[in-house]
Amino acid sequence: REGLSTRIMGQNKIFYYSTISSTNKIAQEEGQRGCAEGTLVVAEEQTGGRGRLGRVWSSPRYKGIFLSLVLRPLVNPAQVAQVTMVASVALAMAIRTETGVVAGIKWPNDLLAHGKKVCGISADLNAEMDRVNYLVLGAGINANQQPEDFPVELRDTATSLKIETGRRVDRAKLTRACLESFEHWYTLWLDGGFGTVLSSWKEMSVSLNCPVRIHTLNKSWEGWAEDIDVDGALLLRLPNGEMQRLVSGEVSLRLT
Ligand code: ATP
Repeated sequence: REGLSTRIMGQNKIFYYSTISSTNKIAQEEGQRGCAEGTLVVAEEQTGGRGRLGRVWSSPRYKGIFLSLVLRPLVNPAQVAQVTMVASVALAMAIRTETGVVAGIKWPNDLLAHGKKVCGISADLNAEMDRVNYLVLGAGINANQQPEDFPVELRDTATSLKIETGRRVDRAKLTRACLESFEHWYTLWLDGGFGTVLSSWKEMSVSLNCPVRIHTLNKSWEGWAEDIDVDGALLLRLPNGEMQRLVSGEVSLRLT
């Protein structure tokens, strides 16, 4: 916490683990117990790290940054996809400032460097009717992995900040920068609405105005990623000219 200049994020309780199954899981338990907004869970290693939709997140010891934050925004549950987009802008900015790596955002919330994933962001929502009880924002940043630290099947699609720059990343410093940047953008979003954040998101996006393939468990579409709507949904122009609206919770996107 030393040197952390936030008001909320990481200023209440910090749970630090050497090894944990998943920071998201602990944060969810704390959220359930009524912890304050900004409660932070970090770990040196996750044995059961998860990304979006329960997908496995490779989390080797001492190499990456694995963090989860409990948030309690007074918004409608439908707006939660916006929070992950707020986080992707915030983390891309922090990564750029701290390491010089210019990461692009792949909708909805992966950060890519030279087309490979360097950071994944997830949000798990707990809501009652039309109000958010809490949500857990999770981020996994590939900081100091070498290619051999990734499972074989990820070596063509994953990268780390160290691979990109050739320099070791100070993980504590980058974590602080991410928390500060996230607090800044989160506050901007709460006070000023999604519009401000969305324009920055679009500037950093690498998956807009290009052909993409989208798939859910049992359906896929190819088309032109035309725009993002006010709820953070992707507007996909299909070959027959129709517009398909896709909500981030359900789908995966491939750049084609
Ligand atoms: P994608 O669109 O890339 O399929 P997603 O956005 O749907 O992924 P995420 O939860 O963001 O899903 O990421 C999980 C996926 O990312 C895993 O299925 C795996 O392919 C890949 N992955 C797992 N760990 C890492 C890692 N440390 N770095 C980069 N990619 C990873």
